[in-house]
Amino acid sequence: MSRCTPRLAEGKSCLAKHDPHGALRSFEQALKLCPPARRRELASILFYLGIALVRLGNKGGALRSWTAASRLVKRRSPARTMLRRFSNGYGMVRQASLELDDLHAFYSVQLDRYLKTKPSRRIGSFAERDMIWDLLSQHWSELKDSGMLVGRCPQEKLSLFRRMRVVFPTVMAADERDFSVIPVNFARKERLSAADRCTCGSGLAYMACCGRTHGEDELLSGSF
Ligand SMILES: [Zn+2]
Repeated sequence: MSRCTPRLAEGKSCLAKHDPHGALRSFEQALKLCPPARRRELASILFYLGIALVRLGNKGGALRSWTAASRLVKRRSPARTMLRRFSNGYGMVRQASLELDDLHAFYSVQLDRYLKTKPSRRIGSFAERDMIWDLLSQHWSELKDSGMLVGRCPQEKLSLFRRMRVVFPTVMAADERDFSVIPVNFARKERLSAADRCTCGSGLAYMACCGRTHGEDELLSGSF
């Protein structure tokens, strides 16, 4: 038994008593105390941390916690089951409909690009946020009405989202990356498809792991 075990047990009992805040504190302490070599125990703490985060309404944080847990234990695990349940084809929090999944991915891709043009990487005001949202909503409607998304998989849609140049009212710094998403497994010299295992060796699908799309909460807080 390591020093983190009692904290883990304490957190679980908080969860059973419907006290997610208390559980969160216990799991965070457990994570700090757990030696990195105890991968299964770490994975277990991360799994329960994800449960506490979902109960607190932070599904994005929960997904990150379960992804980290899944990377530690490379086989079937409760964290993988939760990832399948709560994440979508973009590796983001699953929304109420596929269209909302697409919209959130589109918004995040464009928000990411916008933030990269700003030295602060931050949105300064509600007015600025509204401006971005209005602008992106217009572009989204046009994209949807064009029919270009019909019958495409998330990976193809992501490429479309990245090719779509939204001109923001503030100065757009040139960002001349190649926006197509063509992940490659260099070891095998093959292109990866969305369902292929990630090259990092986690055993997760590429789009659920290193190829996942970062949500607004991560982009704005800078925590990935
Ligand atoms: Zn990966």
